[in-house]
Amino acid sequence: MALKIWLDGKLVDEDEAKVSVFDHGLLYGDGVFEGIRFYSGRVFRLEEHISRLFDSAKAILLKMPWTHKEVCDSVCETIAANGLVDGYVRLVVTRGAGGLGLNPYLCETPSMFVIASSITLYPEEYYANGLSLVTCSTRRPTHGSLSPQVKSLNYLNNVMAKVEALKAGAMEGVMLNEQGCVAECTGDNLFILKNGKIRTPRISDGALDGITRAVIFELAEELGIPMTEETLTRYDLYTSEECFLSGTAAEVIPVVAIDERPIGDGQVGETFKKFLEAFRKLTQSTGTPVGGA
Ligand code: PMP
Repeated sequence: MALKIWLDGKLVDEDEAKVSVFDHGLLYGDGVFEGIRFYSGRVFRLEEHISRLFDSAKAILLKMPWTHKEVCDSVCETIAANGLVDGYVRLVVTRGAGGLGLNPYLCETPSMFVIASSITLYPEEYYANGLSLVTCSTRRPTHGSLSPQVKSLNYLNNVMAKVEALKAGAMEGVMLNEQGCVAECTGDNLFILKNGKIRTPRISDGALDGITRAVIFELAEELGIPMTEETLTRYDLYTSEECFLSGTAAEVIPVVAIDERPIGDGQVGETFKKFLEAFRKLTQSTGTPVGGA
C-alpha cells in the first residue's frame, strides 16, 4: 500500500510527494533532518528530537516556518495516517527552492516532509552475536568546519566512511576526529566498558549529542553503573572489556571485534545485555501517544 507522506502541511500519497529540483536541500545538502522511532503507538523521545531539529535549523540560519508543537503533531499525524504502530520516522527540512547559486536567502520557503515507515538497520543476528567494526580513514568533520552537532542533509562524510566499512566487510565503522581520537560511528554513538565503568567520547571530540546516547546515561544511572564522557583513542577500544553502539535506528547493539581484534573475550558482554533489556523496557513503556491521549 502506498504510504501517506506529510509534505508542507498536507498528507499526500507517496507518488505525489515531490520537491523541486531547485531545492537547495538537493542542490547543496542545505537542510536538516531527524530520525525518530515509535514503539507500540508511542513516539520515543519526540520532544528531544524536535528540539534538536530546531537547534540544527537555528545553527544554519534556517528559519522554521512551523512551531515546535506543529512539528511534533506532523510526526504523530503521519504515523496515524499510515496506521502504523511500530516504526521509524524520517523528518526532513530543506532550505526550499531557490536559484542555481549558494545564496540561501534566495530560497523563499523551507520545505518539510515526514515519512513514517519501518527500518532494519542491522539484521537481527547482529543483536545476538555482535558487530565487527573497522576504523575508517575518513575523519569526522571538525568543529572548525560544519559543527558535527548539526544533523544536516550533507552526510557525505559519513556515507564515505560507511562505504569504507562495507568494503572491509564490516557493517559499521569507527570515525576518528582530526586528532586521531574516537568520535563515534557513521550513524551511531559508541560506548566501552573498562573496570566496571562505561566510557563514551565527548561531544567536543566530534560525537553527535545522540538522543539514544542520553538514554544510555539515564540507564547507566538506573543500573548503578558509573559512566563518563572521556577522550578515547583506539587503544582504549582495543583494550576494552565490552563495546556497544547506540542510535535511534540501531537502538543498542553489541560490538565483539574492532579492526579484527576481539573486544574482551569476543562474546556479547553481560553489561551490554543489561542495557539492552532496560532499553527495550523503556521504549515499550514511555513516549508520546500517537493518537494524543
Ligand atoms: N551519530 C551520528 C552521526 C548519527 O547520524 C546518529 C543518528 N542520528 C547518531 C550518532 C545517533 O544519534 P541518535 O541516538 O540521536 O539517533
